[in-house]
Amino acid sequence: MARWRLGCDVCDATATIGPAARGHDVWCESCQTAFPGVELPVAGARCSRCDATLWAVPRFVELWGELQHLDAVLSAWAGDAQPLATLLPERPRFLSDLDPPEPHSSDAPALAACITAAAHGAYRALVAMPAADVPDDPRAHAARAIAFERIGDATAAMAEWDAVLAAPDLPEAAATRAHLARGSLLARAGRYVAAVTDLELAGTSFAARWNRGALLVHEAVAASEALPDAGVLARARAEAGEASAYWSDHTIGRLLWSLMVERALAGKGHAFAALSDDARAALRAAESEFEHSTFWDRAMMLVGWVRLGAQEEAARIAVPLARHAAAGLLDEPALHGEPLVDVARAVVEARTAMDMGEPGEARHALAPAFAREDLRRFRMPCASCGKGTIGIEESLDAEGSDEAE
Ligand SMILES: [Zn+2]
Ligand SMILES: [Zn+2]
Repeated sequence: MARWRLGCDVCDATATIGPAARGHDVWCESCQTAFPGVELPVAGARCSRCDATLWAVPRFVELWGELQHLDAVLSAWAGDAQPLATLLPERPRFLSDLDPPEPHSSDAPALAACITAAAHGAYRALVAMPAADVPDDPRAHAARAIAFERIGDATAAMAEWDAVLAAPDLPEAAATRAHLARGSLLARAGRYVAAVTDLELAGTSFAARWNRGALLVHEAVAASEALPDAGVLARARAEAGEASAYWSDHTIGRLLWSLMVERALAGKGHAFAALSDDARAALRAAESEFEHSTFWDRAMMLVGWVRLGAQEEAARIAVPLARHAAAGLLDEPALHGEPLVDVARAVVEARTAMDMGEPGEARHALAPAFAREDLRRFRMPCASCGKGTIGIEESLDAEGSDEAE
């Protein structure tokens, strides 16, 4: 567990948060009182001075991010998905293995040079090499394939993987990896039939299994506007393995949604055309295929509906999401204290506008809080001097802290 040292940039107010020699040092973000050596568990503990919730970790550093989430949801609700879309992670749809090939001590200098260049990220030099100078060795071709893919030349990368796979007596591990890499490139290029053949030979790594599952979803969405049948999705999930809970990983449900939104967008013909009833029904069914219901999952749904111009569907997702975000902010102990009373007031005002169905007004109410420089820099006003701001001065590993003596 980590420890944090907080400090004011004007006065000498300071506090620590984290495991101590005895118990846990906590700091009330509401009244800014330090409580050294509180007995764990602190979750649910309350400040004896102001009754705010005490946390074992600093929370005020998240305030600006929380305001940003709420603002972006409100913007989407009002019809502009861009602020929320930019918060969503780029999730790779097909995975690959672009680790450079292993060098061998017996490698000839030209081969060793290719492998070293790939290992050092010298991709431009590697692809600029005249083809005649490239040793005809599968590891040299693999190094070049990686370099081509890294600079975004998928066609040249595929040709190099072809050369790897044409080598006589190719070790099995090298063949498996080449099939994975080429299959992934083919799948990204929409060449699904060829991709299937490669991915069948790509082994049982996480990437290979995910790619096979993802490919099934791509094929199904390309074939029909309707929700793919349950059997296809079950096979895709069985291939891909347990759905990752990590916010920026793809899952079969997240991928399905993204692909169906793209398909519906393409199917609309022009931007202001109404979404067909069939496409709308299929997308509503696809909402149930999400494995998780995190902020990020619901934000994906919201962005999709807004992009499709289905504002009433967008509102159906946005309203509870915005309410949840506002409630989360109002639960923050820092917003219960005097120094951030304006921020708390702005969130309450925004919530009132939300209740009236006015996302634009809500966003307007939130704007001064969202524009605050201190929160943006992960700091909050210091109650001791009333002039400076408190922030994390240092984070330490518990082991490395002076409390360990
Ligand atoms: Zn101060
Ligand atoms: Zn307190």
